[in-house]
Parts: sequence; structure tokens; C-alpha cells
Amino acid sequence: MSLSARTELAGVIGSPVRHSLSPLLHNAAYRALGLDWAYLAFEVAPADLATAVRGAAALGLRGLSVTMPHKDEAAALADRRSPAVRRLGAANTLSFSKGAIAADSTDGAGLLADLSVSLGFDPAGSRCGVIGAGGAARAAVLALAEAGAAEVLVVNRTPLRAFRAASLAPGVARLAKPDELEGADLVVQATPSGMLAGEGEEPGWPAGVDPARLGSGQIVVDLVYEPAETAFLREARRFGAVTRNGLGMLVHQAALQVALWTGERPPLSAMWEAVPG
Ligand code: NAP
Repeated sequence: MSLSARTELAGVIGSPVRHSLSPLLHNAAYRALGLDWAYLAFEVAPADLATAVRGAAALGLRGLSVTMPHKDEAAALADRRSPAVRRLGAANTLSFSKGAIAADSTDGAGLLADLSVSLGFDPAGSRCGVIGAGGAARAAVLALAEAGAAEVLVVNRTPLRAFRAASLAPGVARLAKPDELEGADLVVQATPSGMLAGEGEEPGWPAGVDPARLGSGQIVVDLVYEPAETAFLREARRFGAVTRNGLGMLVHQAALQVALWTGERPPLSAMWEAVPG
């Protein structure tokens, strides 16, 4: 990559952000597409977010990926919000055009794309479960419901937050108990619990969902990708489930951002080659 006065810039804002795989994914895409673009990581404290985003727009950046803890505030700062952003109240994508800021959310679509491309899974008519009620879980609930899931069961440590997440899709999503996930076609584990368990520590199953009760005939996705296989995913696989970590969702949500900002078809194989695993 050679930078020039014509180089277009995009990036990711978050805190912390230095561990992010997004620069590897986006820069690999620009290289494969032959674009004079570059993508950087920006560590931005919450108090500086509005200044940073308006500064990025003023500098003519093409877009920003948004990660923790800025997704809600980024949605609030935008001049235009996609329907998903309006419902979620959170954005993972900001696009800049003629000084205006547009907010999108590619997390849910990224999850659906990975389920489709990697596993051939279509949520239409299926029974799905989501563990967690934070930003990622809410995006999953909305995306699965909008893709036609017959039912989305939401299980969370704090039931009130699960209830609120389920209210994103009235008539399809509902608060559920852990053992109800045993009959689901797809279970999406959307809490960070698999990242938190220390080396050699006995894992606490997220929201009381025992993966030994999941298994054959089920797809289990853990949105965590570091470690590549959480204890939860390993147990679900051991008991016969088809399992998948969160790297595919990460790659596909980035690919959707590449398409949005550059107008080009994202080079998925180059993006996959850029990330570990
Ligand atoms: P978040 O908004 O902070 O929400 C976290 C959720 O997990 C909350 O519902 C919380 O429960 C629950 N939780 C936290 N610690 C827990 C524990 N030890 N046991 C059980 N439940 C716990 O986080 P998020 O943005 O949704 O992210 C969740 C995970 O998804 C993170 O690991 C993140 O890295 C991953 N993620 C992956 C992708 C991807 O592309 N693969 C995209 C986004 C996020 P309470 O409601 O009870 O507090």
C-alpha cells in the first residue's frame, strides 16, 4: 500500500480498540480491490466522541466502524439513521457524505450472511434462541425476526433486559428460560462470558444455559472469536451441535461496510485470509 494525497481514509473508533481486527479486514479488502484507500484504528474516549466524529466528517473520512462503548452515542450523533439503527438505538457504521453523517448497523446482517454462506442456514420459519441482551444480542434478535424466524427465545442473566430485547420483535421474540433452548434450531450465544473465563478456570455457563443440554440437530454460534473456541462452544460441539464462532459475523459485517463505503463487491476471500483462524 502506498499512501498519497489522494488516499481515502476510513477507520474504527472504540475504547479499547488496539486489539481490533477491523484494520486487517478493511485494508486487505482495499488491497484486493486495488483502491487507494487506508483504514486506521482510533482510540477515542467517550467524552471525545462527538468531537472525533464531527472532526472525521470535516476531514472527509469516508466512514467509521464503531465499536464498544460508542454504538449508542454514534447513533444519536447521526443526521440520518437506517431503520435497524432507529429500532436498536445503536450503530456500528457511520458514513460521511457532503458533511452529513449516516448511521447503519451491519451486525445483524453480518450474522445472517455468515449463517447463510457458511452453514446454509435460513432463519425463515425456524425456532431461534439468543443468549444475552446487550448490543450484539439485540442486533441478533432483530435480524432473526426480520429474516422470518417463527420464534426467537431470549435468555439473559438479567431478565428485565431480555424482556426489553424481546420487545424489539413483538409477536416473534419473547423472554425464555434456559431449558427452552433445547428445542431451538439455532442458538446464538451473545454474551462475553467465554472471553472472561481465565485459563484453567471452571466456566460459568452464560445465563444458566448448559451447553450439554444442546446438541444434535442444533446450530450453536458463539459471537466471541477470541478464543476461537469458547468452553461453551466446545461443550455444544462435544454433544453433537454444529458450531461456529463469531469470526464469520465479524468478517461479513466488515464486508457490508466495504460495500457501503466503496460501492464495490467485497473481496471476501482476501478478507478471510487477513485474519487469524
Ligand atoms: P454488551 O452490550 O455489554 O452486553 C453484554 C450482555 O452479556 C448483557 O446481556 C450481559 O447481561 C451479558 N453478560 C455479560 N457478562 C456475562 C456473564 N459473565 N455471564 C452471563 N451474561 C453476561 O456487549 P455486546 O456488545 O452485546 O457484546 C457481547 C459479546 O459479543 C462480546 O463478547 C463481543 O465481543 C461479541 N460481539 C461479537 C461481534 C462479532 O462480529 N462477532 C459483534 C458484536 C459483539 P446483563 O444484561 O445481565 O448485564
